[in-house]
Amino acid sequence: MTTAARVARIKPSPSSAAAQRVRELTAQGHRILDLTVGEPDFDTPDHVKAAAIAAVERGETKYTPVNGTPELRAAIRAKLGHRHGLHYPDEEITVGGGAKQVIFLALMATVDHGDEVVIPAPYWVSYPDMVLANDGTPVIVDCPESDRFKLTPARLEAAITPRTRWLVLNSPGNPTGAAYSAEELRALAGVLLTHPQVHVLTDEIYDEIWYEPESVPTLAAVEPRLRDRVFLTNGVSKTYAMTGWRIGYGAGPRELVGAINKLQSQMSSCPSSISQAAAVAALTGPQDFVATTVATYRGRRDRVAKLLADVPGLSVTAPSGGFYLFVNCGGLLGKRTPAGDVLRTDEEFARYLLESERVAVIHGAAYGTPGYFRVSFATSTAVLDEACEAIARACARLS
Ligand code: PLP
Repeated sequence: MTTAARVARIKPSPSSAAAQRVRELTAQGHRILDLTVGEPDFDTPDHVKAAAIAAVERGETKYTPVNGTPELRAAIRAKLGHRHGLHYPDEEITVGGGAKQVIFLALMATVDHGDEVVIPAPYWVSYPDMVLANDGTPVIVDCPESDRFKLTPARLEAAITPRTRWLVLNSPGNPTGAAYSAEELRALAGVLLTHPQVHVLTDEIYDEIWYEPESVPTLAAVEPRLRDRVFLTNGVSKTYAMTGWRIGYGAGPRELVGAINKLQSQMSSCPSSISQAAAVAALTGPQDFVATTVATYRGRRDRVAKLLADVPGLSVTAPSGGFYLFVNCGGLLGKRTPAGDVLRTDEEFARYLLESERVAVIHGAAYGTPGYFRVSFATSTAVLDEACEAIARACARLS
């Protein structure tokens, strides 16, 4: 059967491909030190699981409203009000099968053939392919490490054209953990205010996995004049170790939310009723799980950043949020392995780590920024220590 052109335009997610490769090698009996993981290594909190079981026992096993249960929308409304002082009426909130689905539907609802979407690189691997799948044109803007991997107003201005529909802002970002301060958001808003055709999709999925004293700001609150041009997305996957429950949400202009709901009504009818009950418990229940896991991530972040910074040829900046380190390996490219192969690219470097030391990482080019690799510290300290030692050994053998 021939498939539609949109399928040929996109590739499977490199993180899913890396995870699959790790599974294959493990199935062949290899012990892999897996640093590709894009999800918490903690179990979902017990009170969240209990809420799901209670929902099943109450018979909440049927379709829900297309935009989510009133209870979950109320919990999301409360979170946005309490955290950011943002007030979204019910019809400006939608719930979907993960933030990923909500983002995809937002693009599907708004992007016509040839519309442009500005994506700062390094970017989460899915954004460009989601744009391509919806007939749009991704406009990738390089944001080098010298700009702390962040979009500057000048680079934003240069990327905008009359066809620009969206800017995607992921803060804290995957893969770098970089986050925009209120001042930096204000500076970007200054550019955006002069281009009324541009909407902003903010992806805040890592907002609670955060290591700085002040909580991470959000564009719609920093610049209220942009509030009706911002679509804020988030979810419970990362904060509450609920990646498999598939609940994400979006808040923004009611026409957009209405269009997303219309698409969702034809696509999935609604997210899982049981997962929605669990998400209510996650958002409204005790939050000590978040504090405890963030403290653990912080310890791992500091440890891995130090171990890798000590490796000659690698450099790393500790992230403000998320559970990834984006490691600069540019100093080792062009070097030769003991087998005599020259490592020309970050992809070859990542393959060398996998083949020589069984350490799995994801190469930077997958995120639009060659010369780096991503390490996830959502795994045990024992694995992290062993993997960092192995990376150091592999690097020391290069000449
Ligand atoms: N946005 C970013 C930046 C992510 O890294 C991920 C997951 O890896 C998602 C969105 C998707 O989250 P969800 O599980 O809610 O679909």
